[in-house]
Amino acid sequence: MGYRSVESVPKRDQILTIKQRGRLYCWLCGLTESMRPADWHSRWYLQEAHIASGGGRARRVIDDRAVILLCPRCHDCHVSDSNAFSAKTINGIEYPTIDERHTIWIKQDVDGKVDIEFLKTFWIGIPPEPERPPDFWCKRFTDNTGRFR
Ligand SMILES: [Zn+2]
Repeated sequence: MGYRSVESVPKRDQILTIKQRGRLYCWLCGLTESMRPADWHSRWYLQEAHIASGGGRARRVIDDRAVILLCPRCHDCHVSDSNAFSAKTINGIEYPTIDERHTIWIKQDVDGKVDIEFLKTFWIGIPPEPERPPDFWCKRFTDNTGRFR
């Protein structure tokens, strides 16, 4: 009745602090919230993307250690198995996909660390070995951030 109970406050607002100065860009392609592509016609913002792509891989955990920042387009390119599903067409353009191997690598690259032991506490099976994202995305990242990847 006119007030919000503590339970109604989204937990992500209470816990996630991953959006911080100096890292406010897409961790895959390097675009910022002010760099919306001309062919992107819906909301453009940095999303807290789970390292694990879906319910089959891990329980959803709201914790900075379980997420990275992705733009909406790169978030769309996050699939459960990029070997089986290597490309995704978005607005008529084909992009390489990424999966958990790449999100773990990205977490390590930007955050400086990945807490694998923590990931294991909610992962279904064992987290995969990290792998550098496809060259296409690493070039984009370098072009957009000036940082070699
Ligand atoms: Zn991106």
